[in-house]
Formats: sequence, C-alpha cells, structure tokens
Amino acid sequence: MPQINVVILGAGPAGLTLGNLLQRRGVPCTVVEKFDREQLLGRARAGMLEYRTVELLKRIGLADRMLAEGHPHSQTEFRSAGASFCLDLPSYYEGRSHHIFPQQEVVRDLLDGFEAAGGDVRLGCAAVGLDISGPQPVVTLADGSTLTADFVAGADGTYGLGRATAPPGAIREFTMQHEFQWLTLLATTPPSAGWTVYAQHERGFAGHLLRSDTVTRFHLQVPVEDTVDDWPDDRIWAELHARLAKPGWTLSDGPIFSKNMLEMQSRVSEPMQYGKVFLVGDAAHIITPSGGKGMNLAIADALELDRVLAAYAATGDATVLAEYSTRRIPDIWRAQEFSHALIHMMHTYPEGSPDAAFRQKLQQSRLWQLEHSDAYVRSFAASFVGPLLPD
Ligand SMILES: Cc1cc2nc3c(=O)[nH]c(=O)nc-3n(C[C@H](O)[C@H](O)[C@H](O)COP(=O)(O)OP(=O)(O)OC[C@H]3O[C@@H](n4cnc5c(N)ncnc54)[C@H](O)[C@@H]3O)c2cc1C
Repeated sequence: MPQINVVILGAGPAGLTLGNLLQRRGVPCTVVEKFDREQLLGRARAGMLEYRTVELLKRIGLADRMLAEGHPHSQTEFRSAGASFCLDLPSYYEGRSHHIFPQQEVVRDLLDGFEAAGGDVRLGCAAVGLDISGPQPVVTLADGSTLTADFVAGADGTYGLGRATAPPGAIREFTMQHEFQWLTLLATTPPSAGWTVYAQHERGFAGHLLRSDTVTRFHLQVPVEDTVDDWPDDRIWAELHARLAKPGWTLSDGPIFSKNMLEMQSRVSEPMQYGKVFLVGDAAHIITPSGGKGMNLAIADALELDRVLAAYAATGDATVLAEYSTRRIPDIWRAQEFSHALIHMMHTYPEGSPDAAFRQKLQQSRLWQLEHSDAYVRSFAASFVGPLLPD
C-alpha cells in the first residue's frame, strides 16, 4: 500500500474541505494559503449551501454553528413584468432545502476544524512555484522553502498556480463569456423578504438574496462596459427599488459595504487533472453565480478527490485516479446547464444582441412553465437544491 502525502494550494472551501477529509483519514497533508487569517475570513461571497453540502458538514462534525446561526431556505420568488409567483422548492424535492450560511463562516468552521484535528495549515504563505518535472511535484513557497508531495491539489482558484502550471495541451478549457455582468452588493439591511427574489425587468435582472438577519446581498444586471464608479449608492438603490418593485412590498435599504463588478464567465477544464496535480473548485471550473453553485461544486470536488486518493492509498491502483474527473464532470456540466438556463430565464438581452426578441419569448415560456408545470418545478427544485450526498 503506498503511503501518500498531499499538498493543497488554497484554503478556500475546496482546499479546506479536502484538508479536513484527508486529515480525518490520517493522510498527511499541508494546506498553503496566500491570505492571512483576517483576509481569508473577510471574503464574503456565497451564502446558499446545497443540501449535500449541509449533509457533508454534518457528517464531518462541522455543522453546529451553521445549524444554530444559519437557517433552511424554502421559498424562491420570481418577479416579471409586474407579476410574481413564489415556489416552495423543498416541497417539490422531498423536503430537501438549501441552508443559508455565509461562505466566510463555512471557511471559518472548516479552518477551525482542520486545525483542531492537528492539520498543518500555512496562512499568509503563497505558493510561488510548482515544479512537475520530477517524479514528485515540488511546491515552492514565498519564503523560499519547498514542499515535496505525492499529489498536489490545486484548490487555488481561477488565477492560481494549479491551473497555470498545466502543460500545453494537457487540459482543454470550455469557456463562455456572457453578454452582461453583475454589480454585486452587500448591504447592512435586514432582508426585505424571508426568501430569495429573482426579478426580471426591462432594464435588467435584479436579485435579493439572504445572508443574515442584518446583511442582504443584491445583484443588478449591468452592461459589460460599466464600472463600479458608474454606480453610486443612490443610483443603485433607485434601480433596485425599480426592478424589484411589487405592489404592497417595500424594499428596505441601508449602507452598502461591498460593491463589486462580477464578470459573467463560465469555464470547465477537462480533465481536471494533469499528472499528479488535481484541479479542485474554481481552479477547475467557473460558473456564473446565478444558481448559487460555485462553492457547492468546490466542496463536492473535494469530496470526490478525497475518495479517489483514499482508494489509491488503499490499493495502489493508479487507474482509480482518473475517476476524479470522470465522476465530477457530469455533475459540473449539470450545474452549468442549470445556471445557464436560470440566467436566461431572468436576464434582459442588451439592445441589438442577436435574436433578442425571440430569446425574450423563450424566457417567458420558461417562466410560464415554472409557474404552471409541476414536472418542470420538480426538475428545477432538484437541480437548484442539488443532488444527494454520496455514501
Ligand atoms: C460575489 C460572489 C458571490 C458568489 N455567490 C455564490 C453563491 O451564492 N453560491 C455559491 O455556491 N458560490 C458563489 N460564488 C462562488 C464561490 O464563492 C466560489 O465558487 C468559491 O469560493 C470557490 O471555492 P474555491 O475553494 O474553489 O476557491 P476560492 O474560494 O477562490 O479559494 C482559493 C484560495 O486559494 C488561495 N490562493 C490563490 N493563489 C494562491 C497561491 N499562489 N498560494 C496560496 N494560496 C493561493 C486564495 O487566496 C483563496 O483563498 C460567489 C462568488 C462571488 C465572487
């Protein structure tokens, strides 16, 4: 049986989930992260945990705070042209639901759990080199020291070393650039509804997403050429009030403390491995945030990579390593397809974009089916809330 050791680049949801899983199996691993603790735990991004993510955190004993401080998510409301309807998606999916808990809090629990289990995590310690020319990959850290590993997990995001080091031709990237972008915001204001609101408006999509009792995330579809400077707070609130408007409903506003332009980009790398390096999470794929999938896919990747590495450590059978990609890719494309369909159900096509009027009609048909077809909603609910956690 081979004894293996793993170096994990990046302490985001993907890297820390993998670290926790390997640590619990007794597989030696080191996590290196360029941010210090404060920077790492200050990154407010996702907040909707799929059902399988919640079940995994429970399985590894890191769900207590999430269950105590977060809450299950039930209703999702769709608004368009002055009309609206609300779906109780768990009731179409045997009661399974998302759980609302901010990503930085998930990362905090994963980090605490890893450290409490004796995990070796090096914060404020960027990887600056990844040499794959020898029999074992070698990672060079910013302080000049090196780590030699049997395997490297590149869980270091889109611009990390894991993806950048892939030899030419080793990986094929499938990409798509969308014709709009999102201005994404966090505001200190309680949610104006106890659920997610997606609004389609002639000037573009607006989203109201839950984060906590005091913080709400908002998204606005904006033209690709806009910058944050084009959007002072009063313009943002005016637009959110207009696009989310519904008779009898009031949007509560408050100070905006985070304002970013999100390029709407989709990418999948196939395979998610070259030699002894595996790409995990955003390093392997980028998905538009419309369906709340990015963090959940990252965690699901880590779960599968842990399984594959454990199988290899137990048997020495190297053919099992290729299963990481072959088993993850269908799930990733399913999520891409769902997020793509959701975006094209709620966004307004820019003037002059090809076939805009026809596509807008398709969009109305999707919304109509969501409102009137149980079969359509059941499929939507299963995709939105996500698949079950494997045994
Ligand atoms: C505004 C916003 C909203 C989002 N909303 C959602 C949502 O609702 N639901 C959802 O599921 N997803 C959402 N996402 C996507 C989600 O946040 C990402 O998919 C998720 O963070 C991916 O996790 P990861 O671990 O793969 O990568 P990351 O979280 O990016 O972690 C990678 C880590 O690697 C570190 N790193 C990079 N380079 C190096 C290096 N050279 N050396 C050492 N460390 C390095 C980085 O500092 C980082 O900590 C959102 C994203 C954004 C930006």
